[in-house]
Amino acid sequence: MGSEGPTGDAAAPLAERLRSQGLRLTAQRQRVLAAVEALEHATPEAIGARLREEAGPDGSAPDSSTVYRNLELLERLGLVWHTHLGKGAPIYHASEHPHLHVVCASCGGIAQVAPDLLDSAAERLAAELGFTVDVGHVALSGTCAACRERARSENP
Ligand SMILES: [Zn+2]
Ligand SMILES: [Zn+2]
Ligand SMILES: [Zn+2]
Repeated sequence: MGSEGPTGDAAAPLAERLRSQGLRLTAQRQRVLAAVEALEHATPEAIGARLREEAGPDGSAPDSSTVYRNLELLERLGLVWHTHLGKGAPIYHASEHPHLHVVCASCGGIAQVAPDLLDSAAERLAAELGFTVDVGHVALSGTCAACRERARSENP
């Protein structure tokens, strides 16, 4: 019995993966995934806030521990992943476009770079230490071009 209804592009692979794990595609899991895709680089709090906004004043939106649980489940299924920008909550993304992040310590701006940036570092860690590095798990911190420029014009 086909009971999926009109669910949008992201729904089919999610439904399949959930089913292969014996799980159901609940409307809530689907909404959490859609929020991750729409917000990109959102913390669980921001995802929860968006779901509450979408639900409206008398709709039912998941509380933050439910959002966390759904994000963990979606991550186990390989549908989303998280990165730490430094202090504060991790940010989540949909998993189709793997990338690394650099985050500006002054303005908090985030930029993305191709994941092969650190290939040679990963290879050396493997060769010298036998260490497998989880390259995208933490963002590289520094100063963005705009902040560097501003600092230079303020302190010539
Ligand atoms: Zn990202
Ligand atoms: Zn900056
Ligand atoms: Zn982590």
